[in-house]
Amino acid sequence: MIVDLRSDTVTRPTPAMLDAMMQASVGDDVFGEDPTVNKLEAMAAALFGMEAALYCPTGTMSNQIAIKVHTQPGDEVICDRTAHVYQYEGGGIAFNAGAQVKLLDGANGRITAQQVADGINPDDVHKAHTSLVCLENTVNRGGGSCYDLAAIRAIRQVCDERDLKLHLDGARLFNALVARGESPRQYGALFHSISICLNKGLGCPIGSILIGPAAFIKRARRIRKVFGGGMRQAGYMAASGVYALEHHVERLAIDHGHARTIAQALEKAPFTASVLPVETNIIIFEVNRPPADIVALLKQQGILAIAISPTQIRFVLHLDVSKEMVEHVVKTIGLIG
Ligand SMILES: *Cc1c(COP(=O)(O)O)cnc(C)c1O
Repeated sequence: MIVDLRSDTVTRPTPAMLDAMMQASVGDDVFGEDPTVNKLEAMAAALFGMEAALYCPTGTMSNQIAIKVHTQPGDEVICDRTAHVYQYEGGGIAFNAGAQVKLLDGANGRITAQQVADGINPDDVHKAHTSLVCLENTVNRGGGSCYDLAAIRAIRQVCDERDLKLHLDGARLFNALVARGESPRQYGALFHSISICLNKGLGCPIGSILIGPAAFIKRARRIRKVFGGGMRQAGYMAASGVYALEHHVERLAIDHGHARTIAQALEKAPFTASVLPVETNIIIFEVNRPPADIVALLKQQGILAIAISPTQIRFVLHLDVSKEMVEHVVKTIGLIG
């Protein structure tokens, strides 16, 4: 038995999802003629109560397109120090948008309205023009933790007062919505743009969706083409997104339950120093031995995980991890002395 907890990107399409993909009607999406891409985009926009959406190959591309559209070269983007847009997108903010970044020290990746307000540069020729704030929800390096809506509302208020745009890297936003019992519309009302990964816990082989006002998406479509992301008969892939939005959202709660079960076993394990609070499908824990040793022991039992720092290991739950696999993980944790 192989239990792959390295990431929720490792999922394979289910037979039913593959079937939906095979049945898709397609056309040339660069001409705007792929009915399935159009359906996915309309569905996502309606779900969030926003005007339009754009299907992209990756979450990195949808974030980078949003940042490019919201900024001018030389501008400054505010985000947390651990944010994916800064840490894991290859320096894309500098490369693609010619913008620089102001990093804030959030609590497990979550920043506050006060920190944002303090981070905005004064209107002074010496200073970069602050134009954009990027939040992440759930927060990957925060152990899949979720923002409180009230905290986001306060940040949006600062953005409105100071004429900044607010983008959400919502790679795992549906995990947050399911965990908190919130609705997509509440998020649509708070952000100028939202990027969502379909290729993570939602189980699609590839794909991301960028959502926002019609004028924003029109500009985003041009940037997607410039980035080389204008795909032709993309409907075969977009069909997996339609299927996932219809069938794979509610079930995220199962992954969250699995994560809690494994976290409880970790709390009791002698090699665990601490576990970040588990709210969704990610578990980040500190170990009191070299993480590589624990990862190797797990691997001997067919459990794959990643050491994400010199002291931390990450487990990510997803739809290819069954109840039986979770039991195997719990049992194995109990056996490591
Ligand atoms: C995975 C991820 C992305 C980007 O996704 P890709 O589709 O792999 O490019 C963006 N933000 C966060 C927080 C992620 O976890």
